[in-house]
Amino acid sequence: MNRLTDDLFGGPSVVRTVPVLVPMPAPRPYSYSVPEGMAVEPGSIVQVPLGPRLVAGVVWDPVAEDNVDPKKLRPIEKVFDCPPLTKDMRAFVDWVAAYTLTPPGLVARMALRAPAAFDPEPMVEGLRFTGVRPERMTAARERVLALVEEGLTWTRSGLAHAAGTSSSVIDGLTAQGSFETIFLPPPPVVARPDPDYAAPRLEGPQVDAAADLVEKVRDDRFGVALIDGITGSGKTEVYFEAIAETLRQGRQVLILLPEIALTASFLERFQHRFGSKPAEWHSELAPRTREKVWRQVAMGEVRVVAGARSALFLPFEDLGLVVVDEEHDPAYKQEDRVFYNARDMAVVRARIGDFPVVLVSATPSVESRVNADHGRYQALHLPTRFGEAALPDLHLVDLRRHPPQRGGFLSPVMLRAIGKTVERGEQALLFLNRRGYAPLTLCRVCGHRFQCPQCSSWLVEHRFRGQIQCHHCGYAERTPEACPECGTFDHLAACGPGVERIAEEVEKHFPEARTIVLSSDLMGVKRLRLELEAIAKGEADIVIGTQLVAKGHNFPLMTLVGIVDADLGLSNGDPRAAERTFQLLSQVTGRAGRTGLKSHGLIQTYQPMHPVMQAIVSGDARDFYEREIGERERAMLPPFGRLASVIVSADSRVEAESHARALRQAAPGVSGIAILGPAEAPLALIRGRHRFRLLVHGQRSSDMQAYLRAMLANGPKERGSILVQVDIDPQSFL
Ligand code: ADP
Ligand code: ZN
Repeated sequence: MNRLTDDLFGGPSVVRTVPVLVPMPAPRPYSYSVPEGMAVEPGSIVQVPLGPRLVAGVVWDPVAEDNVDPKKLRPIEKVFDCPPLTKDMRAFVDWVAAYTLTPPGLVARMALRAPAAFDPEPMVEGLRFTGVRPERMTAARERVLALVEEGLTWTRSGLAHAAGTSSSVIDGLTAQGSFETIFLPPPPVVARPDPDYAAPRLEGPQVDAAADLVEKVRDDRFGVALIDGITGSGKTEVYFEAIAETLRQGRQVLILLPEIALTASFLERFQHRFGSKPAEWHSELAPRTREKVWRQVAMGEVRVVAGARSALFLPFEDLGLVVVDEEHDPAYKQEDRVFYNARDMAVVRARIGDFPVVLVSATPSVESRVNADHGRYQALHLPTRFGEAALPDLHLVDLRRHPPQRGGFLSPVMLRAIGKTVERGEQALLFLNRRGYAPLTLCRVCGHRFQCPQCSSWLVEHRFRGQIQCHHCGYAERTPEACPECGTFDHLAACGPGVERIAEEVEKHFPEARTIVLSSDLMGVKRLRLELEAIAKGEADIVIGTQLVAKGHNFPLMTLVGIVDADLGLSNGDPRAAERTFQLLSQVTGRAGRTGLKSHGLIQTYQPMHPVMQAIVSGDARDFYEREIGERERAMLPPFGRLASVIVSADSRVEAESHARALRQAAPGVSGIAILGPAEAPLALIRGRHRFRLLVHGQRSSDMQAYLRAMLANGPKERGSILVQVDIDPQSFL
């Protein structure tokens, strides 16, 4: 798009225009002019004026010639001293935007999450010994000089600390001319991992699986491998070999984990294998660390990142492998602003970069399983646990035959097993995926139920806090003593259990045992990590937890896992309900028996014959998967067909509904795609917004994006409080 124009003095000069994608809901890049002497290329991170403000944006790839006179455009303000976003990354942003029907600017914003990192990190001031000794020596000065005589450079405070003196001693020596000030490059956030630091000796099926992966990495071409193996079979050890090979090739690695904030143990494990930790990337990082990681990933300084789904948008200099651990995990789906599934987008990222991607799970998603069955993914199977570790002995507790005592939730069978475990000095884990004390509170006199004023959901009692809370919007009030409807005191009844209520029951039966409740609302990430460590060391007898105890932790003394309510997730109208329940229960029961000790799993259910329960206790999931796959195929649900949700919300119910109807009317007639609804969403009200849903169902080959684009273009525009959200490949139907 170079163009000859006359400059102010009449002589010819080259003035360019470039498209710049700004991190806003912009549908396409905006044009800016490049001042003379400024060097920019596609990918350059630049500062541009936007309205009255200056924002950071990315120079995008030139599109068809636009005929704007560059003189009429506003100029780029400055180019940051920062590596440009790679061509692959730009293609990825465009792809995600087109696939999810999101303005590309919003996707680019995810790649520009650390604005302070666009400028180079400041150099660190250091001291170097000049050889000049002070006239007057003291013991402290002696200690300092003894350290610096080896010629290394030190920071002022580091040296004072090492010599056990105050900084003023260092300043005194500097004044005497003993030190000169020098500037050092900032320290890396993590040391470089060494691929050959402590390689394990792989055994049995691990050997072939690792060899296949290493070969994939050497091939350096796009391909998807699915490692499918029971918990404890060595999946992590096996994919570590692929990581090692990628590092040997000099390329960067991304490991996606569903719950990185809780995976301190993973980082340590990585360190044992590679000699240093990977850089972490997740929402809990301190802003300074975030900026450093972003910058050092872009500079190629950081070689391996272990992160949550957003790490997929880090500006890797030369990414050569992505591993998606627990690939089935629903946490990979983001349902906020940009609706995307990081597992699926990881595959896209690898295809664009033409490198391999490894999906890992003990209970693969039906989608990945089908892809493997059809040969689109290479299946690597690890059927047995490594070494001594035996799988826990799993039994169903039929709650119809062994009901809990009145007012309780734990069957006598469960209570006996807990008692025996604690007596042996081992640990029991009770799993219930429900925070708080009770999911519903009602008045026994008039039947009033406590409901959130802004959402269509019950208020959950949190007894530790003395509150009733809404889990959708965070609304909370003090637990009332009287019914607001009829005014009766002391007749409020808690209905159903949450983890806090189970803890109460456990404490009643085992007053001597050390009981701990693990729930995300009770503690921050730091505290949680400490608690998990303490549990691993045996500092608790009975652990009661929500799903965050299900993931990746290694508790060597955990020999009993009890599922309080296995039926909980089965009846929520979600087409993946059975699959999800199977995955979650497998993962939780997999926490037991990680070492040589004999271990048990007890699963409380009212539906012992349900295929999920049968698959769990038999340890044979083949029938279950076959059934699930068969049902999906018959109903043409993913991966045999396509789904997209359109959620219309507004301040008024009427507005939301009529907008949703109008959208449906605007949908084009296309064979192979059907549209259902609008129907009021199961969560009809969230934060005071009324919600209606449309479901678009298409054949595998249909172009859902084109269909939705046409519908949105022909339909009414969003106005007033109306908001339309498109969710491609929805995971949630609430
Ligand atoms: P998974 O990821 O399938 O749950 P892991 O990779 O965590 O399995 O392995 C389970 C345990 O067995 C870990 O403590 C791991 O260090 C150990 N392990 C697995 N394979 C080996 C091996 N070949 N050599 C030594 N230890 C191994
Ligand atoms: Zn609410």
